[in-house]
Amino acid sequence: MDLLVFDHPSLEAHRSPAKHPERPERVLAARSAVAQLPRRKVDRREAPAVTADEARRAHEAAHVARILGLSEEIQDLDGDTYAGPGSREAALRAAGGAAALGRALARGARRGFALARPPGHHAESDRAMGFCLLNNVAIAARAAIDAGARRVAIVDWDAHHGNGTQEIFYDDPAVLFVSLHQWPLYPGTGAPAEIGVGRGQGRTVNLAMPPGAGRPDYELAFHDVVLPVLEEHGPDVILLSAGYDGHLRDPLAELRLEEPAYHALTHEIVALAERRDAGLGIVLEGGYDLEALEQSLFATLASACGQSVRVPRDARGASEPARRSIDLTRGALAPHWSALAHR
Ligand SMILES: [Zn+2]
Repeated sequence: MDLLVFDHPSLEAHRSPAKHPERPERVLAARSAVAQLPRRKVDRREAPAVTADEARRAHEAAHVARILGLSEEIQDLDGDTYAGPGSREAALRAAGGAAALGRALARGARRGFALARPPGHHAESDRAMGFCLLNNVAIAARAAIDAGARRVAIVDWDAHHGNGTQEIFYDDPAVLFVSLHQWPLYPGTGAPAEIGVGRGQGRTVNLAMPPGAGRPDYELAFHDVVLPVLEEHGPDVILLSAGYDGHLRDPLAELRLEEPAYHALTHEIVALAERRDAGLGIVLEGGYDLEALEQSLFATLASACGQSVRVPRDARGASEPARRSIDLTRGALAPHWSALAHR
């Protein structure tokens, strides 16, 4: 299966203050993951700049105007969220690549990857936050809908809760948002009881994983909640908000995922996408240990384009705290999903 890859040289030009974990070298690590795939499988595209109209499908006009109006001046947009020379172009290309990916998937492409930097999932409809300027995956989801997808699902396995993506789709029944994240951790949202509002009730799914959670815990969450809900939602396009700060070696979180976990979890999503003939798009989020980022992203992309890698079974069971938390999510959502009510 071929992989469409959206990338742009400007993604490196978003300069970070000294010692900031969200640094340009992350782009090189991601490119090196792509370079390890068989060349014939990769269809490279230059990421276009997102248009104001595309960005306004996920953000308020004032926020889009703020990003379009960024100057070369170094500014702090939200505590740890900076902008400076190169940031405007990088943000527009990251979001534009994601939008182009969403559109391509809605029109029949089956697998793709948007190399996005700055990341996006903390950016809310009206503000930059947590290293994120524009919400790339949210813009991709709306671009997919605008290009004809009826239902989209976003699975976010970054170690931090995707508060921005949740906020943007909280009342939207067409876009299912599923987040697996460490709890407690920045930004503090993403409790199991947060399930959406109005017509979107039940379409937000939060799996609050305890510190130390690893592959057996994530596999249980997939089996008990993520996969049944995805299947019942019935997406034409599945987007993966792929952050790798859940890796054992990542400095910003305390989860214990490793490459075989990313391979195995991607495989489950790929199998579901194949059953439904849905497109699958991977959008880069966080991940701050460069080697872990490169190798885990490679595991995801290889799995997405059908390369089988032998993943040893993990015989350990899920931990009690993880089971309790997964049960809380299932209980909160059971009234909204028949696939959960019967379990
Ligand atoms: Zn993160």
